[in-house]
Amino acid sequence: MRGWEANVRAVTPYTPGEQPKLSHVVKLNTNENPYPPSPLVAQKLKSFDPDTLRLYPDPAMSSLVQGLADRYGVDREQVFVGVGSDDVLSMAFLAFFNSGRPVLFPDITYSFYDVWAEVYGIPYEQIPLDRQFGIVKEDYRRENGGVVFPNPNAPTGAALALSEIEDILCHNRDVVVIVDEAYVDFGTASAIPLVEKYDNLLVVQTFSKSRSMAGLRVGFAVGSKKLIGYLYGVRNSVNSYTMNRFALELGACALKDEAYFRKTCQKIVNTRERVKKELAALGFVFPDSKANFIFASHPAYDAKKLFEALRQQHIFVRYFEKPRISSYLRITVGTDEQMDILLAFLKKYMKKETPDGRFS
Ligand SMILES: *Cc1c(COP(=O)(O)O)cnc(C)c1O
Repeated sequence: MRGWEANVRAVTPYTPGEQPKLSHVVKLNTNENPYPPSPLVAQKLKSFDPDTLRLYPDPAMSSLVQGLADRYGVDREQVFVGVGSDDVLSMAFLAFFNSGRPVLFPDITYSFYDVWAEVYGIPYEQIPLDRQFGIVKEDYRRENGGVVFPNPNAPTGAALALSEIEDILCHNRDVVVIVDEAYVDFGTASAIPLVEKYDNLLVVQTFSKSRSMAGLRVGFAVGSKKLIGYLYGVRNSVNSYTMNRFALELGACALKDEAYFRKTCQKIVNTRERVKKELAALGFVFPDSKANFIFASHPAYDAKKLFEALRQQHIFVRYFEKPRISSYLRITVGTDEQMDILLAFLKKYMKKETPDGRFS
């Protein structure tokens, strides 16, 4: 090792899902939305004036911030926006987890949390989910430097009730509690109404999943004015122009089409519920997902082998080679047609491959 390497902030980065360059893939590996964004977005893009790109974007990000404030019934000073919710969460870790005490999050959860903790030097403790992959609210009653969890959780899809989230808040009044609602629009109650009562609650959401705009990179957070003020303080000390003109205008535009948004989310929920029944009939087991993916395991078939077999057919799902979840596949809910291709392959595979009887 060279002398200078001893002082490098060396981290093992987050590994995003694969973006295959092939055409004709059934892409169910990164929880993207299979439907296009609102047609209003396409219209807006056509009328975009490239001359405006000479100028820096609006530092107050008014179009998007006001759109979000109106949509979620809060003041604009209660809204923070960032480059996807990854940027929002990263800024929140940097701003709020500064006590030297460990930040708590589940052992099976979004695999970016421990990466941010590592890169910012924040101590953390991973709290085991129960055997059914549920978050146990009582486990968040120990001394800590903050709490963060997704609701619904990823990659399990299991959701907490609002009363359970409020219980966690009640027992954590002196630290910031972050609820990552990346998948909330697929059928879970949002904790946003609780920000009026708990000034230490930060609710984070994204346009990447339910609004079909993962490529635009727009995320946001809602919290008390005080909390949001601190978040902007940190962001503006790192980079004051994170949101480009496309993100601000197209993001605001997407918010205006509530009917399209609702219709798209409902389609995904309907497909998810149908696929749950079909997977269960094939013998798969999974937590009851409230997200746009299903985290499924088959007692008789090896998940990694199945993952590879699917990949050969250009059906991409996500496999995590990690303790407790190495027998699971995370399958994004795509269109009905995509899910039919997946299900047809699974049926064929199970007819051909003899079960390896891992659990028998
Ligand atoms: C997808 C996801 C995010 C981040 O998505 P962005 O595209 O950065 O908005 C954050 N948290 C969880 C749990 C996610 O699954």
